[in-house]
Amino acid sequence: MGYTLPAPARSMTTDAELLHALPGAVLLVQAGRIVLANDASVRLLEARGTDEIHGRPPSDFVHPIDKPRSQQRIGAVAAPDQAGLPNKSSEFRICTCRGNLRMVLISSVAITYQQQPAVLMCGLDMTHQSEIQAQLRESERNYRRLFENMQDVYYRTNAQGVVVHVGPAVRRVLGYEPHEIEGRTAEAFYPRASDRDALKKAILEHGEVSDFPGQMVRRDGTVIDISISSRALFSSDGQFEGVEGLYRDVTQRKNLERELQRLATTDMLTGLANRRAFLERAQLALQHHQASGDPLALLMLDMDHFKSINDRFGHLEGDQVLGLFARTLQALLPPEGLAGRLGGEEFSVLLPGLGLPQARAVAESLLGAVRAMDLSSAPAVLHSGRRLTVSIGLACARPGDRSLHDLIDRADQALYLAKHRGRDQIASLQDLAGPPDNGLPTARTA
Ligand code: GH3
Ligand code: MG
Ligand code: MG
Repeated sequence: MGYTLPAPARSMTTDAELLHALPGAVLLVQAGRIVLANDASVRLLEARGTDEIHGRPPSDFVHPIDKPRSQQRIGAVAAPDQAGLPNKSSEFRICTCRGNLRMVLISSVAITYQQQPAVLMCGLDMTHQSEIQAQLRESERNYRRLFENMQDVYYRTNAQGVVVHVGPAVRRVLGYEPHEIEGRTAEAFYPRASDRDALKKAILEHGEVSDFPGQMVRRDGTVIDISISSRALFSSDGQFEGVEGLYRDVTQRKNLERELQRLATTDMLTGLANRRAFLERAQLALQHHQASGDPLALLMLDMDHFKSINDRFGHLEGDQVLGLFARTLQALLPPEGLAGRLGGEEFSVLLPGLGLPQARAVAESLLGAVRAMDLSSAPAVLHSGRRLTVSIGLACARPGDRSLHDLIDRADQALYLAKHRGRDQIASLQDLAGPPDNGLPTARTA
């Protein structure tokens, strides 16, 4: 039999003192009975003293469920083939003298004590650790549940931008299995590299971003709007280690915002920009003109004798005509042009980049297109043979313009001139020779 306690010649008191000094619980078992219990084991077993332990079989303190396993292990460690080797630590439920349950990690070894075979048992109280582990398992379960059911996609990349971990919500949001995304660079899922670059820049600049807008491509090719909240990860010595964050599909919200924006900026009858949206765009175009010197022209259009259309054919038919007119206008606009309905049957067209001759050419084609307008969706007007015409005032932005008002005012005056000269024509203030002595009022300035 293997081990022998140090120096058999030493006194029992010295050995006992040694055992009592140990911080871990130790029991010495001989012939199936506990012959020595150190102070730590007295505390662990909640005994009043060693008397309450000595002379009893160790199985007295083992929970019934664990008794067979405990006896089998004590027998095995004392078997001759064990040659004094300690057995593998194992947890046992221990019943203390006060009837409390403890979880104790026990390891035993066969020794010779006072020339007799003995088993030395060492116990480590794991009760508290077991509680901690149970709590850990519980919190792990909660975390898993949360992670699995979360609507947002958790992701983590390394310093090279490779996705090292992505949450299961990615199945719903992008249509991929997490393992199909892990190991790839996040760039692969952005329709525009510039989006990903802007996100990276913002994270590196501020350390984190919240509700950062972007877009991603789903497995089926559809592009979705996302909102990302992420932060940069750094090692303890300040090295950039990657990015961790959440993104969510906000396509529905974005579509709603786009629809609201459209409703707020569109004239419902014609589908053109409404007055407010048109004037905002015109203001921006004027600022660009002032900064760049690029030409800018503005047309003011008013349908001729429109009141009589309403009077003769009814308001609904009049609305149809306004819709047709708007479509005609839209179809003839150069790509950079913008048409808006300022109110009633008054419209305006913004022509950025166009000087007087080009703007006049656009206006000419508009005059022609209105005269030739297909009136099949306004049948009463069509069958009456009534001709529809429009008058157009043209103005170009000048270096002296202080505000958009100046430009609009000149276009307005030019429109008035076109009406005055007989309608169905274009006028600009350049057409006026000398001071306005031709009967035109001069007070149409805003
Ligand atoms: P002019 O050639 O001088 O412009 O004559 P006009 O009859 O067109 O006169 P004016 O521009 O002053 O009249 C605008 C008319 O447009 C008045 C109104 O009956 C009509 N109108 C304004 N808004 C609407 C609309 O939303 N729908 C319809 N159907 N008619 C409108
Ligand atoms: Mg009018
Ligand atoms: Mg009119």
